[in-house]
Amino acid sequence: MRLALLGHRGKVGQMLGPALEAAGHEVRGIGPDDEIEVGGLDAAIDFTSPEAGEGNVRTCLEQGVHCVVGTTGLDLAPLGSLAEERGLVLFHAPNFALGAVLMMRFAAEAAAYMPRAEIIELHNEAKRDAPSGTAKATASLLGTEPPIHSVRLPGLVAHQEVLFGGEGQLLTIRHDTFSRQAFVPGVLLALEKLPTLPPGLTVGLDALL
Ligand code: NAP
Repeated sequence: MRLALLGHRGKVGQMLGPALEAAGHEVRGIGPDDEIEVGGLDAAIDFTSPEAGEGNVRTCLEQGVHCVVGTTGLDLAPLGSLAEERGLVLFHAPNFALGAVLMMRFAAEAAAYMPRAEIIELHNEAKRDAPSGTAKATASLLGTEPPIHSVRLPGLVAHQEVLFGGEGQLLTIRHDTFSRQAFVPGVLLALEKLPTLPPGLTVGLDALL
């Protein structure tokens, strides 16, 4: 596919660009000082920031291009409406790591039997939004409005624990992302499935598995 990668010099972007090219895609990197010109490309991928992502995605949709969004902390509903109006796909995964999606599934299963839960999400200090998109998505899957604790420290990448407390027992479901390489297969899967998705917003790798 012919792709735009917004945020190609970021921590995720630096890893993702070469991985997309190795998978046979053609990648046009777009940084904060570049004009967004994506008309005619097959899709745009955004891994930028909560401040920049919304405008970036809107511009790409206005230029008629499907979007795969990794940036978290965005108000996606209006962008989803715009995508639907234009007959375009807007796909967002709060977490592109497959293990994290499984962690959320297993947590949802456990919540049916152990409803008292709390979530601890731990990320690198550079992550601006808190709680993380994954923590919010997990909380809504549990349906019990569990408290979320956010940790931001150097050395961390992306980690989450869901703790279930019961009389005399504790169940912990934990996922660790040690390298941003973990996000690559999820982005490749989203690109592969783009033609099968309906116009408008689709959220979560779960929808593709
Ligand atoms: P990062 O290292 O800060 O990288 C962001 C990049 O975006 C930087 O190179 C930045 O350039 C660039 N940028 C800023 N404004 C831009 C604009 N208007 N147009 C194009 N590029 C722009 O952050 P990161 O760790 O790669 O993460 C990026 C985003 O993805 C964050 O929101 C993070 O939470 C999210 N994320 C999501 C997942 C997931 O699985 N969904 C996984 C990891 C991260 P400058 O540095 O020059 O400003």
